[in-house]
Amino acid sequence: MHTDNFSTNAVHAGSTPDPSTSAVIPSISLSTTYKQDSIGVHKGFEYSRSGNPNRNDFETLLSSLEVGSEEAIAYSSGSAATAAAAQWACLAEDEGGARTEEDIAEGGKSHILCINDVYGGTYRYLARVAKSTGNLEASFLDFDKAGEAGIRNAIKRNTKIVWIESPTNPMLILPPLSLISEILYSIPEAQRPILLVDNTFLSPYYSNPLTLGADVVLHSISKYINGHSDVIMGALVIRRGLGEKLSRGFRFLQNSSGGIPSPFDCYLASRGAKTLALRALKHGLNALQIASVLSKDSRIAKVSYPGLKTSPYYERAVGALSRQAKKDLSKLGWDVGALEAKAGLINGTIKHHNHHGRFAGNETLEEAIQDQGIPFSGMISIRLSSTDSADPEASHAITDKFLTSLRLFALAESLGGVESLAEAPWKMTHGAIPEAQRLELGIDPSLVRLSVGIEDVDDLVQDIQQALDLAFA
Ligand SMILES: *Cc1c(COP(=O)(O)O)cnc(C)c1O
Repeated sequence: MHTDNFSTNAVHAGSTPDPSTSAVIPSISLSTTYKQDSIGVHKGFEYSRSGNPNRNDFETLLSSLEVGSEEAIAYSSGSAATAAAAQWACLAEDEGGARTEEDIAEGGKSHILCINDVYGGTYRYLARVAKSTGNLEASFLDFDKAGEAGIRNAIKRNTKIVWIESPTNPMLILPPLSLISEILYSIPEAQRPILLVDNTFLSPYYSNPLTLGADVVLHSISKYINGHSDVIMGALVIRRGLGEKLSRGFRFLQNSSGGIPSPFDCYLASRGAKTLALRALKHGLNALQIASVLSKDSRIAKVSYPGLKTSPYYERAVGALSRQAKKDLSKLGWDVGALEAKAGLINGTIKHHNHHGRFAGNETLEEAIQDQGIPFSGMISIRLSSTDSADPEASHAITDKFLTSLRLFALAESLGGVESLAEAPWKMTHGAIPEAQRLELGIDPSLVRLSVGIEDVDDLVQDIQQALDLAFA
């Protein structure tokens, strides 16, 4: 039987014409309650918190996009999805959670092992909320630095979830996903923690972690999936085969904690997701070109974009690409087979790669861009050169001048919308992380995070250059 591809599912899954009117787009169902034919006899809906047609449609759509999934469960925000996953770690097994009778008899806490460079709100919830309101402890690890022995050491008897982001925010690090998954699979199934991957930065277009060893994917739908900066929503997506273990608990928490998205937001997010493939590709093509231009500008000390060949995470980026992204790239002329075959070599040789400012004479622009790497989402982090890097005030002044001189990039938090945004993680998205920890991660006043939109890339490049001219005047 034919299986439809990503863009087809994005348009059709969860979007069947309304049987009562044949309206091609399902109506927004605002009713909070549903009439029963007799006691307990109904069409699957009783009260809108426990089930709503627009939410069901969105969940069907998301499950079809996140390849390898059995079921998607929507929450009122990415943060509500984070809270649900953390609560699941503390919920008793007979309610669908992770806490066994043995855990309960011992009376200890459940543990989550989380990557150290993590979304600020995830850090805040695990370190500050779950610790005091839940039966939960969390520890934060640099998985690459820890290496295999360090990771094994950090997984404790009571560890219920290993939690990673890929790439991380804002440093755009790709953690060693295959190593982590291998370690987890060496643990007997009854004690094995689940592997949760926050896939918000890539969206299901670029990568499908459930096919790479993840058990659960978390999404802030507020970013690329809705894509228009007008919905706050989140979801947990369960790998095929794990429905029995996870679905009951996640659904129970969705209904019991009540962090559900509105029918209107589900409708908007479904509408946004229909164009995810088009948008995500354009975000990535624009970002690759901007990253490659900026990496040749002396006013930028460092460009982090995992799709750039010069990135230390390039090999992992190529390895993480979804089938759909590879298919689209090969249609655009990328030699995906060769990329995969050479991914290891490229990583080994970048130290000797001589990076100079101009495209070689007879290359077309497309070839020149392909030569720079692959599109890999629209997120770029840059470090502005400052004359005196030991002077944080001076560095802050240059960053502020740059950010306030941009014409098209709005100085704003968030990411993944069609419009370009720029921000300073030091004071904005990551301001809640203690200063010493921010500095250790590399989040200092010279760091700028760009969410590259789908505007014309020449206009975006021009905008960045004129702002750099003013900042460094
Ligand atoms: C935004 C974001 C979240 C939180 O999602 P909200 O919808 O804002 O609550 C979680 N993880 C990542 C990586 C994010 O970017």
